[in-house]
Amino acid sequence: MLRRAVTSPERLREILNSRGVRLECPSCGHREWAPLDRNVVLPSSGIQPGFEAEGPECLAVACKRCGFVRLHSAQVLEES
Ligand SMILES: [Zn+2]
Repeated sequence: MLRRAVTSPERLREILNSRGVRLECPSCGHREWAPLDRNVVLPSSGIQPGFEAEGPECLAVACKRCGFVRLHSAQVLEES
């Protein structure tokens, strides 16, 4: 549901704006971001060595100027 809701840069901007997210890229200062094609599942270290367990799913967005990538928890963004 989240992926469909934020597939456009306009919808992404609307969601981030509604949450008070600062849009300035920490790398270059640009203010336009685009969602990447796929969400990212962060690895979870768990108790065992290695990264076998699944961690939180995140929406990945990239700065349209320099490519800096930032992650936002899909679970948190779904709680609107
Ligand atoms: Zn940037």
